[in-house]
Amino acid sequence: MFPLDGTRRALDPGSVLVEGSEIVAVGPVDAVDADPRAAGAEVHDASGRAVLPGLHNCHLHSGLLRGTAESKALWEWLRDYVDPAHRALTPEIAETASLLAYTESLLAGTTSVMDMWRHMGGSARVAERLGLRATLVPYVADMPGYDYFETLATNRELLEEHHGRADGRVRAWVGIEHLLYCSEEACRGAAAMVEEFDTGLHTHSSETTYEVEQSLERFGRRPIAEFEHRGMLGPRSVVAHCVWVDDDEIEILARTGTGVAHCPCSNMKLASGPAPVAALRAAGVRLGIGSDGEKENNTLDLFDEMKFASLLEKVTTLDATAGDPWDMLEMATSDGARVLGLDAVTGSLVPGKRADVITVALDGLHTTPVLHGRDFNVAAHLVFSSSGHDVRDVWVDGRPLVADGAPVGVSVAEVRAKAQAAAEELFERRAALDS
Ligand SMILES: [Zn+2]
Repeated sequence: MFPLDGTRRALDPGSVLVEGSEIVAVGPVDAVDADPRAAGAEVHDASGRAVLPGLHNCHLHSGLLRGTAESKALWEWLRDYVDPAHRALTPEIAETASLLAYTESLLAGTTSVMDMWRHMGGSARVAERLGLRATLVPYVADMPGYDYFETLATNRELLEEHHGRADGRVRAWVGIEHLLYCSEEACRGAAAMVEEFDTGLHTHSSETTYEVEQSLERFGRRPIAEFEHRGMLGPRSVVAHCVWVDDDEIEILARTGTGVAHCPCSNMKLASGPAPVAALRAAGVRLGIGSDGEKENNTLDLFDEMKFASLLEKVTTLDATAGDPWDMLEMATSDGARVLGLDAVTGSLVPGKRADVITVALDGLHTTPVLHGRDFNVAAHLVFSSSGHDVRDVWVDGRPLVADGAPVGVSVAEVRAKAQAAAEELFERRAALDS
């Protein structure tokens, strides 16, 4: 069992005692068995499995474009492919996209997502139904040509209607789609709304050199410096990507306490470049991990993301000690919870936190052998050998959401049929707009 409580120890074997929605004891099996509160408890035998806190996806977009926009550079891909699909999107299609993304996430052991998407009332309903933690961030944009995105007014509606729902599992944040899609006025309005609702702010930045050039040309500052100028950075802000940040911008991120969502698969697939993870970490920047969307990854599997994050760090630094499996496990669990401002509630298996727990099968050939004691190799397995398909059980707030590899309360067949139909409708609508 991996408490991920900052000590980098595994309890082998370990046990976690849950009462209602809360973890009340964690320790070696014998010790937890002897706890008087364990008398009469229902036992879930996780022998032969790794037990971990649920994973946090700090940057995700619901969507239905998987596999359809390949081998394009980021800005070309956005202009020719992603933005036309945004024009064709309806609230119903958007809700089904969230149903697909959140169910896929849960099955892969992700208990908490930060989703930047549109028409998010439907996303809120889906999250409530499925039972996972969801931080909903609308894509707000106000520059000419981006009128089909969300506005600060629709972001306000989402905050008023859905923030804090489902016992706090569903939260709304303020979203800025992109520095180049938003006026300074919109950014300042977003920052004010964060204060008003005591919530967080999320955006993408510094994904490509093009953005940095454009920011310097239009504003006379690099993107992170411009965000600071617009009052958008602070401990409640999270910026995805941060690939092309210089030393001054890393200092700004660290000084303001801004979190970063590292998205290695997306950054590699769109040929954006490697984020300076070692420098960000050395500067004390809070780092979580994100899958980005289905169209730029193309899975939402954070086990893949941990592996690629490690390999990317190794190959860019030429340092085999970089990308340590424990760093990756922390980035996907406790550090991710900290980035999302959820660390008082979840992110590690410690008494007093909510019971967001997953089990991962270790009996596959790809995770053989499993060794104990001084040869313990399961941390490495989880990062380099396991995948989301190995996740067997998921609990959030102590409620079972995945049991023996199948979602509880929704069927994979239903999700798949709905997503297939919604995607076909979306592509037909987009083709009609083109003609
Ligand atoms: Zn993104």
